[in-house]
Amino acid sequence: MLNKQVKGTFLKNEPMAKHTSYGIGGPVRAYITPSDKNDLKQILIFAKNEGIDTFFAGSGSNLLVSDKGFEGIVITLGKSLTHLKIHGNKVEAEVGVMLGKIVKETIKRNLTGMESMIGVPGTLGGALIMNAGAFGGEISNCLNIIKAMSMDGKTRIYQKDDIVFSYRNSTFPEDEILLSASFILNKKPADEIQHDRAKASKGRKESHIVDLIKLAKKTVFEKFDINLELEIKTLGFSPGTFDI
Ligand SMILES: Cc1cc2nc3c(=O)[nH]c(=O)nc-3n(C[C@H](O)[C@H](O)[C@H](O)COP(=O)(O)OP(=O)(O)OC[C@H]3O[C@@H](n4cnc5c(N)ncnc54)[C@H](O)[C@@H]3O)c2cc1C
Repeated sequence: MLNKQVKGTFLKNEPMAKHTSYGIGGPVRAYITPSDKNDLKQILIFAKNEGIDTFFAGSGSNLLVSDKGFEGIVITLGKSLTHLKIHGNKVEAEVGVMLGKIVKETIKRNLTGMESMIGVPGTLGGALIMNAGAFGGEISNCLNIIKAMSMDGKTRIYQKDDIVFSYRNSTFPEDEILLSASFILNKKPADEIQHDRAKASKGRKESHIVDLIKLAKKTVFEKFDINLELEIKTLGFSPGTFDI
């Protein structure tokens, strides 16, 4: 039995509504937070051997889960792999670190590359998969190396160029869970970084809603091949703002 084996948290028949920003989603067989990489390895091997459907989640800020839920297990590293190390201009972070924390810590050290993503919710894992970005910056821009684990518990190492990154998309294999990533950033004068951060931060109130609308349109289009028309009245936006 998997629940006896898991050293971390094992929540049986857990409603995903508790783990998504939209507050929507029915029960999954188990919502699991492994205690560490070794625990994760054992869980993946068990799931593979038993043929259990497995989904990897971050903090659920980009997840739309059906009210019917999901027959398989959901594994999140959001609360277990949270180590962040910054040495000179090199950033090493595990996928459970919140993107906001990385942004804050790099700004503090006058490192440029992440500041435009201030306010983007979610973990580093989700950000890598989604190639999260804002105001012209994307998580993949300064990316160096990524570590992942396959369902047989083996560690995979990718250079940035092994993966294709495009708008809110990446080509990481779906049956691998990301573990950590490293980034090489550049130094920039503090006042310039603060200026860019402030600009990004100011723009977020509006762009949160725009992003949310685009996300809803994209999700509906991908799932149902339906192009949703905007039903709200908008004012002051340039043409194409809500296009996906
Ligand atoms: C209000 C609001 C504003 C937003 N603004 C922006 C924005 O400005 N820019 C932007 O890019 N996005 C934005 N988003 C979307 C969201 O913040 C990003 O997509 C974010 O990167 C998702 O991170 P997460 O940890 O919540 O991932 P989740 O939503 O949990 O998962 C997203 C995807 O990543 C996968 N995943 C997560 N962790 C792992 C892992 N360790 N290994 C393998 N797969 C994994 C999941 O399977 C899923 O496919 C916004 C969302 C909201 C709700």
